[in-house]
Amino acid sequence: MTAQPVLDAPVPRPTAVTAPLPVLGRDVEVPLVTGEKVPYAALDYAASAPALQRVWDDVAAYLPCYASVHRGAGYLSQLSTDLYEESRRTVAGFLDLPEDHQVVFTRGTTDSLNLLAAALPAGTRVFVFATEHHASLLPWRRAGLRPVYLPAPRSPRQAVAALEEALATAPQGPGLLCVTGASNVTGELWPVAELTGVAHRHGVRVVLDAAQLAPHRRVSVRELGVDWVALSGHKLYAPFGAGVLAGRADWLDAAEPYLAGGGASRTVDHRDAGTVAVEWHRGPARHEAGSPNVVGSYALASACRALSDAGPDALAAREEVLLGRLRAGLAEVPGVRVLSLFGEDHPRVGVLSFVVEGWNSSHFSAALSAEHGIGVRDGLFCAHPLVRSLLGDAGDAPARCGAPEPSPPGERSLNAVRVSFGAGTPEEHIERFLSAVRSLVGDGPRWNYRTEGGRCVPDGRR
Ligand code: PLP
Repeated sequence: MTAQPVLDAPVPRPTAVTAPLPVLGRDVEVPLVTGEKVPYAALDYAASAPALQRVWDDVAAYLPCYASVHRGAGYLSQLSTDLYEESRRTVAGFLDLPEDHQVVFTRGTTDSLNLLAAALPAGTRVFVFATEHHASLLPWRRAGLRPVYLPAPRSPRQAVAALEEALATAPQGPGLLCVTGASNVTGELWPVAELTGVAHRHGVRVVLDAAQLAPHRRVSVRELGVDWVALSGHKLYAPFGAGVLAGRADWLDAAEPYLAGGGASRTVDHRDAGTVAVEWHRGPARHEAGSPNVVGSYALASACRALSDAGPDALAAREEVLLGRLRAGLAEVPGVRVLSLFGEDHPRVGVLSFVVEGWNSSHFSAALSAEHGIGVRDGLFCAHPLVRSLLGDAGDAPARCGAPEPSPPGERSLNAVRVSFGAGTPEEHIERFLSAVRSLVGDGPRWNYRTEGGRCVPDGRR
């Protein structure tokens, strides 16, 4: 199969809406500020998605057999070792990795990208767009690396042209492009295959931040041509603390282990006083020192199997229908502005950020929760430069990730509201969300709110 350029035709045609995949928490009721209870509408998948029921079932079935891996002699240790190594192969299949690539289990995308940063040859120039999530933006600011921050492009073509221009004038030597597959702010798809083509023509390698892409779209390393992929289990319906760095082995094998300790070392000799000679493993074990997160890795592999069985294209088509409803519904609400880097019509996954005229976003999302039982997120989403530039903000927005200081309700928005969903989202959650937005914008909140500890909280009936 040949690469599908994101620029041209990335989105599968919507078909009939099929049922959501069963996830945990779908029946959990939460209290409203009135004391009434309603089923929770989880619309913060981009931060952490609920566990798939199937992942939970697999983990529950495995846990009685859980035992130490790799060096245990017992039957259950061998079984656990087999399942752990099998999980690697499952993830490799899910990502369509070439034979000679490897899967290293990590704690998540941030950890994966920091691991790669620590393994880059000295002097590597790292090209990254300033619009990236902080996990993609920041790991390269370490001794020995030379990060090059590319300006925010306003179209995929501009992104490709900006990279081409930066690489044309860059000096020789090892290089890496770090690019996100789908934005955690706008949900927009990035032209990964095209950027990779440009990077490779200039001898620059590519790592794909697939934290937001993998839960929504099929990711084929072979087709995209990228050299590494990073992702997080907790965004992929497997919230058990594991992530992945998958890709080429050469730079990782040549680097010092990410963590020094047992598991990464093949032999250790105490020869003379004051010296210890270590021979490190090659392959994934080199960077997985310590007892690995077997349950998390197994859960992540279970999620890969579940998503593959459900069919990534069918899931994407279903999501596209829900996204269409969401966008059409928001477009009808006066004063709602959806944030976009590449333009309204650019394809995106089920992640969408917006501001509402006259509302502080923290106030708006607090009211969605307190008055409607809907969980979204507000803030700058660990992508401060991107959100600030989309808000047209000169830089006076709150600077702390995850806990923005809301200005008093009613003031100009310094941050945004993000609604995100996925394979477990029923249509009803989208409809309830739209009706809540219409009601808040049309009639206002029914409650007063105040700022407490950096968050908006209900403060008595109006
Ligand atoms: N990259 C993107 C695009 C993300 O959205 C996130 C998390 O929101 C990360 C990286 C970091 O993922 P984690 O927090 O699982 O390390």
